[in-house]
Amino acid sequence: MSRVVHLVGSEITVDDRFVRQRCAWCGVALLDIDLEGPHKGESFATGSWVAVDGDGLSKVAVDGHHYPDGACVTDVVVVETVPGVH
Ligand SMILES: [Zn+2]
Repeated sequence: MSRVVHLVGSEITVDDRFVRQRCAWCGVALLDIDLEGPHKGESFATGSWVAVDGDGLSKVAVDGHHYPDGACVTDVVVVETVPGVH
C-alpha cells in the first residue's frame, strides 16, 4: 500500500459510541473508534495531516500552508489570496 497523506476533517460521534473522522478533501474514512471496544484509539486534530500506509495512520508535520508530499488532492486551485493570511 502506498503512502497517502490526508487532511483530517471534523470529528463526529454517532450514538454516543462511535467516533468517526474522514478526510476533508477526498472523503476517505480515516477513523472509526468504538468507545465501548477494547481499543480506544485516538482521534486527530481537525485540520492536521495524517499519512496512511501499511503501518496504519501517523501524524505528518507540515510547514504552514505547504501541502505535504503525497497529499490525496494535489490539484489545488487558489481562487483568492487574502493579504496577511498565510
Ligand atoms: Zn484525502
